[in-house]
This record gives sequence, C-alpha cells and structure tokens, in this order.
Amino acid sequence: MRHCKMLLLSLVVLLAPQVWSQQKPMLEDLKKEAMQEIDRRQAFTQQMVDQIFSYAELGFQEYETSRYVTGILEKNGFKVERGIAGIPTAWVATYGSGMPVIDFMADLDCIPRASQKPGVAYHDPIVEGAPGHGEGHNAGEAVNVTAALVLRELMEKYKIAGTLKVFPGVAEELVGTKAFYVRAGLFKDADIVLGAHVDDSFGTEYGQSFAPQGLVSVQYFFHGKAAHAAMAPWDGRSALDAVELMDTGWNFRREHLRLQQRSHYVIINGGDQPNVVPSEAAVWYFFRELDYPHIKDLYDLGNTMAQAATMMTGTTVTRRLVGSAWPPNFSRVVAEAQQKNIERIGMPTWSEADVTLAQALQKEIGAKVDGLKTKVDALKPPSPATEMGGSDDIADISWVAPTVYLRYPANIPNLPGHSWANGVAMATPIAHKGTTAGAKAQALTALDFLLSPELVKQAWNYFNNVQTKDLKYTPLIAPDDQPAIELNKEKMEKFLPELRKYYYDPTRYKTYMEQLGIQYPTVRK
Ligand SMILES: [Zn+2]
Repeated sequence: MRHCKMLLLSLVVLLAPQVWSQQKPMLEDLKKEAMQEIDRRQAFTQQMVDQIFSYAELGFQEYETSRYVTGILEKNGFKVERGIAGIPTAWVATYGSGMPVIDFMADLDCIPRASQKPGVAYHDPIVEGAPGHGEGHNAGEAVNVTAALVLRELMEKYKIAGTLKVFPGVAEELVGTKAFYVRAGLFKDADIVLGAHVDDSFGTEYGQSFAPQGLVSVQYFFHGKAAHAAMAPWDGRSALDAVELMDTGWNFRREHLRLQQRSHYVIINGGDQPNVVPSEAAVWYFFRELDYPHIKDLYDLGNTMAQAATMMTGTTVTRRLVGSAWPPNFSRVVAEAQQKNIERIGMPTWSEADVTLAQALQKEIGAKVDGLKTKVDALKPPSPATEMGGSDDIADISWVAPTVYLRYPANIPNLPGHSWANGVAMATPIAHKGTTAGAKAQALTALDFLLSPELVKQAWNYFNNVQTKDLKYTPLIAPDDQPAIELNKEKMEKFLPELRKYYYDPTRYKTYMEQLGIQYPTVRK
C-alpha cells in the first residue's frame, strides 16, 4: 500500500516539475525559514524545557507533563488522541494529511531521587528525596514540539503535503512502552521516525549503534506460606528463601554466560519482619544481551532459575514483564541526511557562565574537567559488539520503520547518568540553547523527507534490503503482557504535594531559575 502511494507521489512530482517548483520555495529556502522561525521561538522552547523540568514525573505517572504538552499541540492545530496502547499518559498528536508520514518521538519521564536545583554545581535538591530530571528527558518534547509547530506553519503557508505525528516516550526509564506502541500498530503508516534524546554532544548514528544491548525487564513474585518464625518455622514456606536461592543460582551461572550479557537485580519485596516467615517476596531482573535470540535465551534461563528456586523452597512463582527493548537498528539513509543538517547548524555558542557551571560540576563529582563540547560529532557507524551501553525502547520502533535518534547538545559531558548531576544543566541556558539546536536538526531533517519522495523511497529500500534483511522483528513481549502502568504510582503520590509548590509559573517568571531565586551559575567558592 505504502509503496503504491509512494510511486504515485513520485510520478506526480516527475510529471509536474513546473507546478512543484512554482508552488513551493526550494528546500534550501524552507530550511532557512525554519531555522529563523525556531530562533524566533527561543523563549517558547525555554519555557517548555523549564516547565517539564519542574513537573519531574516518573514513568507512567507523566500526567501533568502530558496534559501540558498535548495542550500546546491542540492549541496549535494538532489533533490529539489520548490513552494510546492502553497507557493513560501516552498520546499521539497529528497534523496534516497524506504522505509522507513523519513521526517524532521523545521521552517524558524522570529519575527517582534525582531532584536538583538547576544551575547549582553541587547536590542541592529542590525537594529532598523526590524524583527529578536526572537524565534530561524534560528537553525532548521541547525539541520535537518546537520543530513540529514550525513545520506545521511552513506546511500550511506553502501547501506542503504530509502528516506530522508527535509521540511521547512514556516510561522510557523503565523501557516500558514502545514495544506496546509497536504492538498497537501505531507505526504502521510511518514513513520516517525522528527520535531525539538529550546528550552532551550533537550527532546521530546508524545501524546497531549507541547502546548495542536489548533487554527484558521482569519481576518475579514468589508465594510461600506464613508462620511464626520461632514457634512453627516448619509450617512456613519462605518466599524470601526462593528469592535468595534464585539470586545465588544466577550469580553462580553468571560465570558460564557469554561476556556480552549484562544482568542485574534488586529485591523489591523481602518480607515484613524477621519473626514472620515471608509468605510474599519479589525480585526484579534486567536481562541484557546483544540480539533477540540471546536476550530470549537469557530470559528463558531466568524463568528456569525462578522455577528451580520454587522447587527448593516449596513455593510458587508468578512473573510480570515490565519492560523490554530490542537492540537499536537505525537508518543510514535518514542518519546521513540528519548529519548534514547537524553540521550546518553547528554547536550552540556557550557563554562563560555555561562553561563555568560545567567545569565546576565536573570538578565537584571528580570527573574530567573539560567544560562543554564545541564541535559536532562525525556520523557514528555501528559500534563494535564490545562497546556496551544501556538500552532504549526506541529500538523496537527502529525495526518497524526507518528511524534515527538525534543526540542534541543540552547537557554537560562526563556525568554519571541517572543522577542529580545530570539534572544540573537541564533548566539552564545550556539546555535551552541545546534544545533549540535540536529542534533545528529535527525540522530540517523532516523537510528533507517532506520535500523528497525519492529520499523516503531510498530509506525504505535500505530498511527492507539491508537493515532488516537477515533479522525480522519479533516482540519480546508476549501477547498477554500488558504495560506496567501501576509502576511508580505510590512514589509519585508521596512527592506530588511538595513538588506542586515548585511548578514553574512562566506568567510570573522569565525562567525557572529566576523563580527559584538561583544565581547563574552557582558554584562552590
Ligand atoms: Zn533517556
């Protein structure tokens, strides 16, 4: 279907070059106009970055953030569908009609215990113990929405055909949703998917690149029998024993697993008190490997270990898959187009204050002190299998449509990740300028594909004949697995009343730092 329509579109363009060029400015002029329009919206972009930073919502609990972002999109002519794929905080915002369909994806959620005052180069939480944007996901929607609003304006003004769809990466920190998005068929009509993720560098990549590992995230719940631990221990069956034996078994087996695997666990329920034999206990595992068959093997082995632990302890086990991700497989055709745009845009101009903040934070945490990056990255080819990284469920989308993942320069280099330190720059001029640069890269790349059906065709040829030639997508989620939308509910409810007091109010303050009374930059004397 797609390719018939594509062929037709190409024919129309071929047969009517005159009409095409008369009706629309050249790509080059459109790109210039898009860059100017994005620069004109710097205050809007900054407000979005700051507003979402102040919401600080954990995965599956992004209610304020989603209400805010969809509100902006609706006000600007996008049609919003909420609760997609059975996830209350997920949505899709659509503008335009016809081919090509360009999808935008960026995450929303934050990190537990990462609350941090922006612009302060040492640990100083806004709310002690509360979640915070210790990964910088607060900037992603500002990147994509700024780009999408400018594209919408240009498409309307110059009657450019095509459809824009904006998606949120709900619960990315739990790798919890995108496999369900794919299962719900949300990318069936996608021509190109442009993801964006915060970084300290400006670049893009193709193939199995930035983080070559996929994973299954699964919780095992052991069920035993309670008894008085002193008076009648023989009547009890300890679910905690099962957890410990599973972990011990796994740690012995680890020696005989491939070096490429990474597995980690936390005990999420260890019982209530020592004089009660724990009838319930639970452990949460991440099983990571380089490709689908190996991830699947590791997951099967985990299930066997859990079963074995029940046999040793006279307990039973149930499990809940709470996340999954394939290893990424990004489009070379789209990445090459994006790379040209990145090089054209260049790095933001950092002020002395920006560099002072970066160096002070790097010194504070004992990292290499080299300030902020000043050059864009070269196009990154696929990583060797030995280069390990985290996982990201955008990877699942990269196996069903030509996808790239822009890294935009909105944070400080050499940080530990998933920590308060990664939140320091995320509502400062470093994040604001990096987000504007990211929005330009997204808009310019979208224009490349909106204006060239031939380029869309090339991306699909590459997708079908190279990217997915030898390996096709098989979901790691089973048909009866459901999104773990109950996660983080209690954690979020505990902190909401305090966090609400610090929501950013752009009608009263130009920036969030101004609202918090922060001198930029605040560094140790
Ligand atoms: Zn992330």
